[in-house]
Amino acid sequence: MSLLADTPDTRNALAAPASGLHWTPGFARLGPAFFTRLQPTPLPAPYWVGRSPAVAEMVGLDPAWFAGDEALSAFTGNQLLAGSEPYATVYSGHQFGVWAGQLGDGRAITLGESTSGFELQLKGSGRTPYSRMGDGRAVLRSSIREFLCSEAMHALGIPTTRALCVTGSDAPIQRETVETAAVVARVAPSFIRFGHFEHFAAAGRTDELRALADHVIARYYPHCAKSEQNERFGGNAYAALLEAVSERTAALMAQWQAVGFCHGVMNTDNMSILGLTIDYGPFQFLDGFNPGHICNHSDTGGRYAYNQQPNVAYWNLFCLAQALLPLIGEQEVALAALESYKSVFPREFEQRMAAKLGLAQPREGDRALVDATLKLLAAEQTDWTIFWRRLSDHMAGADLDAVRDLFIDRAAFDAWHLQFAQRHEGEDRAAAAQRMRAANPKFVLRNHLGQQAIEAAQQKDFAGVDTLLTLLQSPFDEHPGFDAYAGFPPAWASDIEISCSS
Ligand code: AMP
Ligand code: MG
Repeated sequence: MSLLADTPDTRNALAAPASGLHWTPGFARLGPAFFTRLQPTPLPAPYWVGRSPAVAEMVGLDPAWFAGDEALSAFTGNQLLAGSEPYATVYSGHQFGVWAGQLGDGRAITLGESTSGFELQLKGSGRTPYSRMGDGRAVLRSSIREFLCSEAMHALGIPTTRALCVTGSDAPIQRETVETAAVVARVAPSFIRFGHFEHFAAAGRTDELRALADHVIARYYPHCAKSEQNERFGGNAYAALLEAVSERTAALMAQWQAVGFCHGVMNTDNMSILGLTIDYGPFQFLDGFNPGHICNHSDTGGRYAYNQQPNVAYWNLFCLAQALLPLIGEQEVALAALESYKSVFPREFEQRMAAKLGLAQPREGDRALVDATLKLLAAEQTDWTIFWRRLSDHMAGADLDAVRDLFIDRAAFDAWHLQFAQRHEGEDRAAAAQRMRAANPKFVLRNHLGQQAIEAAQQKDFAGVDTLLTLLQSPFDEHPGFDAYAGFPPAWASDIEISCSS
């Protein structure tokens, strides 16, 4: 049985709003079991904090309108966009390895889906039926971090939800201290999480579960419904979906590990069914390479430490498999659909590392070189981003000393470098340098860079947000004059405590 209404609602698509946005029912066609219609709660006297014109263009917003007050009001949630019928969705999930029951969009409200194929969602726009004890708000600090990191990840080539803009208001928000409110307008083809499936599976609501899976397959994984794709699973489209999600998630983890990104809260409700990075909270880009690094101050057990991420993603996929079991049928089939994670993750990770090392064609022994590199960097917790970028610069002709100087144990470095140089013997150095500079960013959103922009923004100076956005939108470029943004973290950076509080 399909719960999809069979006649699309085209009323809203007929409107011709100044924003340039036209809506299509999308997720909302699933029906009221999946969401609650409601309006965002207004905030007093909003102001712009940051805007991404690239996302505006992608979504199909009129640039002149996006520069104006109506957009400011609309993306703060103070004024409804023409034709928008906002809603908050219900989901459940496992938090820190424990079933948490119903969660849902506690502070996110989806404005709708544009005919350009993107859902627009406001985060921090007020209470919803899923807010539980929360206030439905987000503070300026965490909103700037989400805005910048979404755009940074995209520019790094890493699948992610995008961020259109951040608006702020002086409305006080109580966290550990009193802060001020902000709203991030974020954009993705879909914000569906593993937790949406877990929600209906846990309640034994198989019809809704199937409707959700059918929606995801039809919209985002149409190949799973085709027999060539699912014949290995005896024509089981839901198993093919699970396999496709596993593979996307494996590829995402490989990208996170290669760039040194720690998510910090990999609960199943923070896992995108599209394999996107979603819900930026206590995330961090590694400074020194400490494989066991924990970025989330609230994660005392280190469940979401950097080197745990690939395993946790697999654990989360196992939860998704369990949720999909009523549709898949056989447990063995579900387990078989998860199997490819174990080959896709290492393959993708090795490919990413090979690119970082400037290797064109894989050769036997490459894995040993990758392992040796990781061991070398872990020994002294060498700065991850700076090591790779300096190594790229060296390949392009810069003196090796800039890399060598990163190590106290010069003998260890020299031994490693011999291995690296031998591997590159007879290869085209210029081509390798090009590969490396395209794989090893000069600029990442380190905690201290975000922190400086946040502190200025708290004083109503938003230039720092803008500068970071510009640098992070082309992180592989040199950006002469901005080397300070590519330097080592200052001593105070290690005192920044980023927790779940946002
Ligand atoms: P997170 O781990 O931050 O992704 O959030 C976990 C759950 O808590 C989700 O259901 C969120 O919507 C909800 N939540 C987080 N912060 C708030 C808040 N300030 N108000 C209402 N709900 C919140
Ligand atoms: Mg979340």
